[in-house]
Order: sequence, then C-alpha cells, then structure tokens
Amino acid sequence: MTMKYFLNSSGKKQRGPSSKGTVPTNRPKHYCGVFGIYNHPDAARLTHLGLFALQHRGEEAAGICTSDGRELHLVKNCGLVGEVFSEASFPKLPGMHAIGHVRYSTTGSSNLLNTQPYMVNYVRGQIAVGHNGNLVNAQKLRADLEASGSIFGSTMDSEIFVHLMANPAHSSLEEALTQSLRKVEGAYSLVMLTQQQLIGARDPQGFRPLCLGKIGGCYVLASETCAFDLVEAELIREVEPGEVVIIDENGVNSFFPHGRGSQKTAQCVFEFVYFARPDSNIFGNNVAMVREELGRQLAKETHVAADLVIPVPDSGNFAAMGYSKESGIPLGHGFTRNHYIGRTFINPEQGQRTLKVKIKLNPIRQVVKDKRVVVVDDSIVRGNTAKSRVKLLRAAGAKEVHMRISCPPHLWPCYYGIDFPSKTELIASNMEINEIKKYLDVDSIGYLSLDGMLKSTGNTPHNFCSACFNGKYPTKISDDVDKLKLEKKVSLFA
Ligand code: SF4
Repeated sequence: MTMKYFLNSSGKKQRGPSSKGTVPTNRPKHYCGVFGIYNHPDAARLTHLGLFALQHRGEEAAGICTSDGRELHLVKNCGLVGEVFSEASFPKLPGMHAIGHVRYSTTGSSNLLNTQPYMVNYVRGQIAVGHNGNLVNAQKLRADLEASGSIFGSTMDSEIFVHLMANPAHSSLEEALTQSLRKVEGAYSLVMLTQQQLIGARDPQGFRPLCLGKIGGCYVLASETCAFDLVEAELIREVEPGEVVIIDENGVNSFFPHGRGSQKTAQCVFEFVYFARPDSNIFGNNVAMVREELGRQLAKETHVAADLVIPVPDSGNFAAMGYSKESGIPLGHGFTRNHYIGRTFINPEQGQRTLKVKIKLNPIRQVVKDKRVVVVDDSIVRGNTAKSRVKLLRAAGAKEVHMRISCPPHLWPCYYGIDFPSKTELIASNMEINEIKKYLDVDSIGYLSLDGMLKSTGNTPHNFCSACFNGKYPTKISDDVDKLKLEKKVSLFA
C-alpha cells in the first residue's frame, strides 16, 4: 500500500494511510433515535410526536410498538415519520404504553425486515426492542447464537438482544436483562416494551444519550430532550451509563448489570459537534451552548482577517455564532437551505454532486460578493460536499474563502454507530492539511484541536469517546476491523 505522511504538531513527518481509493460524496449519516412512554392514554400519538422531534437521528425508517396490557401492536415501515404514519395508523396502535424508533441503517441493510422496533414472541411473552448504537462483538454473538439453534429474522445487530433474552434459563426479566447485557459490547441506548413494562438501558460507557422524563404521572424515555419538549415532558435525569430502568406499575426500578461506575465512560463527543439537536440537553449540557463554545475556541485557535463569518446551516449555526462573537467578525447568513429535499430525490451515488449541494444550500450573492468569508462547518468527513460549497461561494463572488471546522480532522472510523466505517472514506486520513486546502480550493483551512474540542464540552474531557479523531477506541474492536492503533497527529491549520 502506498503510504502518505502527515505533519504532526512539531513538524515531524508521520506515517499515514494511502491517498489512493475513492472519496465518497456524502456526509456522515445520523443513526437512530428512540422514544418510550408508560401509562399514557395517548401513548401512540405522543410517541409519534417524539419521533418527529428525533427525526434528525434517522431518516430511513420509523416504527411504533404499543402495549394494551395483553399484547403488543406494531406499525413500522421504511420512510420518514410523516410518511410511515397517518391517521389510519393510530387505531392499530392501542394501549397505554409504547416505544418508537427512527432508523438510519448502521448494520444491516435498509429494508423492511431491518426496521424497528423489533418485536418477537419468546418464552416470557412478547417483547419489542428499539436500539441506538452499534455492537462491536455482534458477529461473534450472532455466530454463537446461530450455532446453538437461533434463527435470525433480520441482519441487524439489535436483534441479538432479544435472542440473548430468550434463554429459558433466566428466572426473571431482571436476570434476563442482566445476563444479556453482560454479553454485549459496544454502544447501545435501548428502549424495550413487554406487555406490562417499559425498559430503558444504556451501555456502561454511555456512548449514546438516553433521558428519563415525566408527564404528570407517566414516565417517558428519549434519546434527546428535544422530544420531551414536544410532548411537554419534564426531564428527570439522564439514564446513567450502565443503568437499566424497568418502568411498571411499581414505578421506576433501576439497576446496574455491570455494577455502577464499573467502566470508564466514553460518551460520543460528536453528538455535541454534529448529531444531536441544538435544543437538546445531553451528557449534562445544552448542545447549542457547547457548539457556541466550540466556535469561540475555534476562533481563538485559527483566527484569520475576514469580513464575514457564515455558517453552513444548520449544524454550523451555533459554532459560527461563537466564532463571530470571539473574533469580532460580523455574522452573516451566506447560505439559504432548502428543507424540502426528499431522501430519495437524488441518490448519493448518482446525479451531479454540485447540483445536489446546490439544491440543498444556495449562497446569497448579495451577502458574500466581494467579501472575505469564514465558512464555519461542523466537520469535513469525505470532502466532496465541502468542495462543492466552496465552488458555489466563489461563483457567487466571494473574494476569499476560509474554511473553519469545529472539531479535529476525522482520521479513524467509528465502530459505535456512525456510517464511516473505513479510512478510505475520510479525507483527512488520505490527505495532508495542505492537500485538503488545495482540494477544497480554499484560501485557508483550520480545524479545532482535540483539547479545544473537549474543553468546550464543559464536562470532564476524559468522559468522552473521541476515537474517530485520535484512534483511541474505548472498547476492544473485533479482529476483522483495523488493528492499527497508533495515534495520528496532523497539522490543523493551513
Ligand atoms: S468514534 Fe467518534 S463518532 Fe464514534 S462514538 Fe467515538 S466520538 Fe462518536
């Protein structure tokens, strides 16, 4: 394999992966969102609203499963929440308890079999599961289960939970959960529904968020608090890393299958940078406030003389505001975003790249013409979208284009639920900083440092996973994935 070299912070060359291979066009996809509610007369409708609020976490499929106390009822399909459910759906979803799921496929292809909630009949009755995250030992667990007779109905790693729980040797639901969750490794924030119980669970490292709230006397669970706002629920607290909550007629019963605080936490820092909605509070902080701080820190680290700071909407908005406040450079809105692009309008693998970007974001000539603009975005993963945006800005008359990114370069794949599984897809893993600058055709480029990013979270930096930036994976990764564990250092500014 041809090897490239990066410049580290001391100017020494360091080995990195080849620049050969394709650089796909699309940004990281969102992955999944979960919602659950116990003991509410409008359980299905509130779950429907909750899924609307969580739509940004998954746009390929949506589903709701309800319990009327005797049996479970399920409606799910491929599509957006607004496409999957109509008024005709609700009579099919009776009951006071419900879970819901929006999905982007991270393991398992995108088809009806792989939609969630995933519902089965098993030794203790019926159970449905909605999963956000990715298991890192799924292949081995599935092979072991199949060797002992399990028949899988999907290709999702999420199905493994119900197979593990189906072991008839377990004496209770608590024991089934304890024994099952001790076997899985990786990222999971789960909602589960039986005829009588709503269950929430978070992996011991707490990769993905999961929040517990209340509407009057009813308990709710959601990936993000923006879903609570829509259903007028009050946040009680986050489900702790490693915690299981069983909600039933006795209230909330909490326990820790691995022991409380048994593992160092590794919450996904990229939730703050990109995935979560700015109005959500996760990992003890408000996402918008963290993004603004990321922008401030970025301005301190990568200052440039310019006339205007413009965000790439929507996820760059708050970081751009922070950059503007810190630098004193006025904030302007140089792009208009079209919110009405259907998922299938242009397939990422088809069509003309610049046209696709142009349909989504159009520069405002009168704002950017003859200006030196600082464009603030949350990340550059593959690079082609950023390149197209720069081209549009230049065509609209921008005099200089300075790209600023509110996180460090993505150098490593994520095994915890994000769809950039190979280094060949990551531009910073394939090009030096000067090559990226040239490739994007920008006048300068600056990334936020790892320390700067972690400091901006307002939490203890060691609480976070930042493996896609530094290659330090918080779990064991199975043998069939990349074993190269060397930390890469790159120049952040050119
Ligand atoms: S590798 Fe990156 S995207 Fe994946 S969980 Fe860790 S910080 Fe988040």
